[in-house]
Amino acid sequence: MPEKYDTHLTTRRAMLASMGCLGLSMCCSCRSTPMTGRPQLVFIPKSMEMSLGEQSYADVISKSKPSANPSWVQAVERTGQRIAAVANAQGFQWEFRLLADPTQNAFCLPGGKVAIYEGILPSCENEAGLAVVMSHEIAHALARHGAERMSQQAGVQGAGAMLGWAMSETTPMTRDLAMRAFGTGTQYGILLPYSRHHESEADSIGIQLMAKAGYDPSEAPLFWGRFGNAKSGSESPPEWASTHPSDDRRAAELSAKLPQALQLYQSAASRYGRGERLV
Ligand SMILES: [Zn+2]
Repeated sequence: MPEKYDTHLTTRRAMLASMGCLGLSMCCSCRSTPMTGRPQLVFIPKSMEMSLGEQSYADVISKSKPSANPSWVQAVERTGQRIAAVANAQGFQWEFRLLADPTQNAFCLPGGKVAIYEGILPSCENEAGLAVVMSHEIAHALARHGAERMSQQAGVQGAGAMLGWAMSETTPMTRDLAMRAFGTGTQYGILLPYSRHHESEADSIGIQLMAKAGYDPSEAPLFWGRFGNAKSGSESPPEWASTHPSDDRRAAELSAKLPQALQLYQSAASRYGRGERLV
């Protein structure tokens, strides 16, 4: 290989590394979570996070049947749109999908792709209960918990290289390599459980979101009670329960957050109370 080419490569790598470091310092210093204001270390570029979200969503949707219950489908769409209207999410292309699946599960991927499984609707009981689940999942995406978890896993060196790739003119192959390095498909943001801290933060953001969207936040602790009962009464524990334990601490934390959320609810542009009954 000609010496000149080698030098060019070395220079380019050094440039990418320094761009990565610059990007890292910018990301580290600028980012804080919405509504809770916690400083956050996120090295994964938003564009990459969004495209991972799109890919995972397409993957799940291609293997799932849409719900054939029009009133439930409308409730999911209506509740989702009301939460999205107060979420202040930059660059999100919202989509709300109800899947004909008895699993008790739900997720929101980066970029605003939300899927609810029919099996969780009995625990929701009404639209406000559905808003508890949807706003909690949307909160994970708004707070970029998936990207934060990936950043923690990646470590500074790997993340710097990823940022370098993303900031340069990537070829599909390098982009593909970068994505594969972090694991894609349904594993991303769906199967991997969040930390206890992320769960608590999503509860905190979620209860504020549902209140701003006009749903009575006092439904939140009630939902967790019903969900806990559904979990203990079922032979196979609900999918969502494996990543979202319904424990006493969770209920106590939500109750402590209720007075502030009720204030937000009182000043919401429209108030729907518990909304329509679903089951
Ligand atoms: Zn969660």
